[in-house]
Amino acid sequence: MVEAQSKQAEPPVAAGTPILTVNNIEVVYDEVILVLRGVSLSVPQGEIVALLGPNGAGKSTTLKAISGLLRTEDGEVTRGNVSFMGEEIANMAPEQIVRRGIFQVMEGRRIVEDMTVIENLRLGAYTRRDGGVRRDLDMVFDFFPRLRERTGLAGYLSGGEQQMLAISRALMARPKMILLDEPSMGLSPLLVKEVFGIIRQLNRELGITILLVEQNARMALQAASYGYIMESGKIVLDGTQAELVDNEDVREFYLGGGGEERRSFKNLKSFKRRKRWL
Ligand code: ATP
Repeated sequence: MVEAQSKQAEPPVAAGTPILTVNNIEVVYDEVILVLRGVSLSVPQGEIVALLGPNGAGKSTTLKAISGLLRTEDGEVTRGNVSFMGEEIANMAPEQIVRRGIFQVMEGRRIVEDMTVIENLRLGAYTRRDGGVRRDLDMVFDFFPRLRERTGLAGYLSGGEQQMLAISRALMARPKMILLDEPSMGLSPLLVKEVFGIIRQLNRELGITILLVEQNARMALQAASYGYIMESGKIVLDGTQAELVDNEDVREFYLGGGGEERRSFKNLKSFKRRKRWL
């Protein structure tokens, strides 16, 4: 995998410069439901960036606005821009966006349970026209040896294996950037660590840029170099990993009391909009 993707890992833009820029976007569902109210963020080439916030803040909607999957839910970017490698992609068809190098791994994995692992992986390559799919299957299995052993239906995989399959399916599209929506959801603490290890590996070894939506803020901020916090359809806070981890509000509301304790955003009532370091 490392070798095969090294071509795409050669940064088309210099490391550290934005590969994705979301500029002041507004998103509306069903022509009337305004969900995003001027969201801006940027993701540098080769980095992991976290997008955090309570339930219903608009995190998944932001990812769908980038990947084009909004369309499948009657959603639309009605204002602002989404630029990927200098090209405007807002409201472009999802398969066009996959071809340009962005793949979204949706919340809940969305693997096809009554198809085999290999059939699921082939789905990830559906936009490709090159002949390297079989070779990439081998390379995915080298990266995730456990999946090679699972020859049956994907529905029989454990939660952790299903998450690995969902990520592997994204790799089959040879993405430059992966949008990951809640990869740790429903996994045991041990598996959460394993999945975050894989996320780091994808980034480090394959050079894939990652925008990560997570409820597990502690793990997300260990992996990410920069983070954004959303509430009610807006970004209310952003900063480097160190700035966020040091921020009193982030510590209180998002990182919990210490140790490995996981703090659920579901219990949050409010978030103080203070940018202490700005
Ligand atoms: P969660 O962690 O619960 O998924 P989130 O931060 O990802 O939260 P979104 O799923 O983006 O939030 O939802 C933001 C808002 O948009 C919510 O009020 C939600 O009800 C609404 N919403 C999401 N999808 C749709 C849709 N297809 N049609 C109408 N409203 C939607």
